[in-house]
Amino acid sequence: MNALAATNRNFRHAARLLNLDSKVEKSLLIPFREIKVECTIPKDDGSLASFVGFRVQHDNARGPMKGGIRFHPEVDHDEVNALAQLMTWKTAVVNVPYGGAKGGIGCAPKELSLRELERLTRIFTQKLHDLIGVRTDVPAPDMGTNAQTMAWILDEYSKFHGYSPAVVTGKPIELGGSLGREAATGRGVIFATEALLADHGKSINGLTFAIQGLGNVGSWVARLVHERGGKIVAVSDITGAVKNPNGIDIPSLLEHKEETGSLSSFDGGDSMNAKELLVHECDVLIPCALGGVLTRENAGDVKAKFIIEAANHPTDPEADEILSKKGIVVLPDIYANAGGVTVSYFEWVQNIQGFMWDEEKVNNELKKYMTVAFNDIKNMCQTHECSLRMGAFTLGVNRVARATLLRGWEA
Ligand code: GLU
Repeated sequence: MNALAATNRNFRHAARLLNLDSKVEKSLLIPFREIKVECTIPKDDGSLASFVGFRVQHDNARGPMKGGIRFHPEVDHDEVNALAQLMTWKTAVVNVPYGGAKGGIGCAPKELSLRELERLTRIFTQKLHDLIGVRTDVPAPDMGTNAQTMAWILDEYSKFHGYSPAVVTGKPIELGGSLGREAATGRGVIFATEALLADHGKSINGLTFAIQGLGNVGSWVARLVHERGGKIVAVSDITGAVKNPNGIDIPSLLEHKEETGSLSSFDGGDSMNAKELLVHECDVLIPCALGGVLTRENAGDVKAKFIIEAANHPTDPEADEILSKKGIVVLPDIYANAGGVTVSYFEWVQNIQGFMWDEEKVNNELKKYMTVAFNDIKNMCQTHECSLRMGAFTLGVNRVARATLLRGWEA
């Protein structure tokens, strides 16, 4: 099922549980604004290359719209729409005063030079600059983008509007970025996992983990699970996968990847088929890469007892049903990976106040937000007798619906 169909289906299910008025339901589903732009750049060899860029601003009832910008070949209209909608519910679940948005450019960043990426980011910003802003829509990094991308957006935007560090988050520290932002999504995944496991009388220490993806999120998750005594028995990235029933030495693996750019030839485990990772024997499975990886084809074979959705929409609704019948507990993306946007909020607050927090304060506040949100989700699960996914969706949708109704529609 495509990402948008899956997201809409989850939203409609939540709307039914909440008994939402059908007109409110319709207004929440339709995006506030959808932008599609052509971005042509001269390549380093003098030839031209054209790309399509998107920004979907889904909802702003609770505050400025917020969400990442993704550079990836699979970026398309439907995917960006789905991810923008997920941001609306995600910001509401962790109760940060934002709406939701997402952007992206359909490109393969690894095939572009640094200068080409800079040109592409700048042309995209030139086409968007009137429609984003500190109080309107605040982009951040996502798959294929990073702090450097945000620095280029900040610089390009500031040419039109004056120096505006709070127009993007996930910036380099030197330009007003927040301490702890780089690790925030991964650290938030850990706080979310700890809250869930504690609810089941367990802790990370002593459990076995399989982690899919070793980008920014996956590598932080792996590092922090390892630090807390979790045994990581399998990891994968786009270059391959490694397994070791006695636990992989994560610092050595990350060092190996840093040096060689790949997981292959790592001698601290045996190589395995990357697809097999999702159905590998473990207590906790953490998908940290692309969406749509758990489907009706492989869900029946999953052996983990807990799935923590560090990626956005990794589980198809059909897979969700199969997993639930098997008694597997799924911690949904709109909560599990909300640490990134939560620390983005702290960064924006620091920029607006002109006051920098130390890293301990950032991490402590993040833990508070993640813990409160888990308890809020559990309350919704009790009220509506539903799964954690529907607990998170009803929590988010209800907060946005309340804000929408309070603001009203009078022209
Ligand atoms: N790209 C991240 C996400 O999907 C962070 C968004 C943000 O910080 O605005 O949640």
